[in-house]
Amino acid sequence: VKKIAVLTSGGDSQGMNAAVRAVVRSAIYFGIEVFGIQRGYQGLLNRDIFPMDLRSVGDIIQRGGTILQSARCLEFLTPEGQQKGADILNEMGIDGLVVCGGDGSYKGANKLSKLGINTMALPGTIDNDISFTDYTIGFDTAVGVVVDAINKLRDTMSSHERSSIVEVMGRHCGDIALHAGLASGAETILVPEMPYDLNEVADRMRDNFARGKRHSIVIVAEGVGKGEDVAQALKDRHSSLDARVTVLGHIQRGGTPTPGDRNLASRLGDFAVRSLIEGHSDKACGIIKGELTLTDIDLVVNTKKDFDIELYELASRLSQ
Ligand code: ATP
Repeated sequence: VKKIAVLTSGGDSQGMNAAVRAVVRSAIYFGIEVFGIQRGYQGLLNRDIFPMDLRSVGDIIQRGGTILQSARCLEFLTPEGQQKGADILNEMGIDGLVVCGGDGSYKGANKLSKLGINTMALPGTIDNDISFTDYTIGFDTAVGVVVDAINKLRDTMSSHERSSIVEVMGRHCGDIALHAGLASGAETILVPEMPYDLNEVADRMRDNFARGKRHSIVIVAEGVGKGEDVAQALKDRHSSLDARVTVLGHIQRGGTPTPGDRNLASRLGDFAVRSLIEGHSDKACGIIKGELTLTDIDLVVNTKKDFDIELYELASRLSQ
């Protein structure tokens, strides 16, 4: 490969900038020309493509969001749109593309590789819902945002002896809820991967208050449903359970990336470039037990991420 491009796509996540920086600087280090594509696949189709140099990624490692911006692109879902994208890259002599995004973005990269473009996908999403990687870029920061919010909620909850329901992101994946729940000492963690019984939850909360617990936090992963509905269901069971609901929403996608996310993004971005140089294509870059890994994108998008049941059970043991 002589010329590569990088884009960010789908929902943004903290650490995408660190990934872009790593791709650009590694490429230049290895003598490869590198281009940035604005606004994901939409920017590709709009030819919003510009050369990047060492300085164009200066002062971004600490910033949330993505300087390349992100977008969702309907045209790129069509075979014609994908062909147009491949044609534009070919026309510009760009023979490698690094895509940082979620599973939809991975599917786009897979389509381009079938049209002859060498592609590498980086897991850029707070949801941690991508298989064949233990962590995605942005997850650690998002968990930190949730834990920070819960610390604040605890102060006011203890004063009022109240319970709080915190609805967190993650789409169909309960990892943000699980990791933030464990780290913040939540009493109950509701995730789509595990069955739960609201009668039991309600009884336990009532009993815990009765034996002197001053606050109680229930984390609800968005894949389970709305925090408001859980609050109502608990109140229907025991009228004393008047939980306040906090929906953290897009705050979870903001803020400066943690050192963990910056370093993950830096390692994966550099790895993507080196993998392209070594002739790999149509691969998802990941990290498994600390080791950098390449997996066929097809396999990644067709495999549901494993849920860490041991961690879930630990959180339950510690929450009594
Ligand atoms: P997040 O998980 O944060 O939402 P994502 O990458 O899954 O990120 P999507 O909106 O699903 O977000 O995908 C981003 C873009 O990738 C889409 O707007 C579209 O342009 C492209 N894309 C998604 N699915 C496909 C597909 N099956 N084939 C080709 N391109 C796709």
